[in-house]
Amino acid sequence: MSSRIEKPLNYKVDSWIESSLVDWDGKICSVVYFSGCNFKCPWCQNAGLVKKKEQTTSLNDILTYMERNKNYVDGVVFSGGEPTLEPSLPNILKEIKDRKFLTGLETNGSQPKVLEEIIDAHLLDFIAMDVKAPLNADMYNKLCGVKVDLKKIRKSIKIVKEAEIEKEFRTTVIPCWLTPEDVLEIAKKVQPVKLVLQSFSPQETLDPKFRNVTPYPESQIQMMYDKIRKRVYNNRRDK
Ligand code: SF4
Repeated sequence: MSSRIEKPLNYKVDSWIESSLVDWDGKICSVVYFSGCNFKCPWCQNAGLVKKKEQTTSLNDILTYMERNKNYVDGVVFSGGEPTLEPSLPNILKEIKDRKFLTGLETNGSQPKVLEEIIDAHLLDFIAMDVKAPLNADMYNKLCGVKVDLKKIRKSIKIVKEAEIEKEFRTTVIPCWLTPEDVLEIAKKVQPVKLVLQSFSPQETLDPKFRNVTPYPESQIQMMYDKIRKRVYNNRRDK
């Protein structure tokens, strides 16, 4: 089968996986990772992507795979590290959209200007923004390992809430630092948009101390879901 790609793309990324069923609910997507993050969450499960490295994987290789498998792959989700720090992100999204694939983004919400730019330019079909903690400086800075500009996080939450695309917020529930009450507070800030609770995974964390932390059991995460469904989302079943 011949490829529709007519010109080679010079864009480089850190790494990618061919297909994922979990990064965008209901879609089969390739996932592309950029290295480099402006947060240093001690519990980070992508520790190898936090430091900026030379990126050597050609986007063209990824697009060639997608063209060959276009009957199975819906689009690409960009992740990291923090993908909004990558200056070529808008151009890369445009290249993907020009080829009629869907585009998604996973972000820590620290760059509202970039989010605004790519959403206004209709370059995104899906966005998932992490909300790491309730929006108070002490907790947010602790969970992120750096001093975070909460004004920017609030602005990004507003942008995502108002975006007319598929969207969700995500919180990784860290047992020692986030309580069910904290989760409730986060849900109140992001509602009516869905809040997805992610289980913490202790393998390969940025700070080795977190490798000894036991994740919340699934039953407790379910109880947190039940609580936010009842108290924030008025028992809607998709929340
Ligand atoms: S978990 Fe934190 S440090 Fe790791 S990639 Fe996400 S924002 Fe960056």
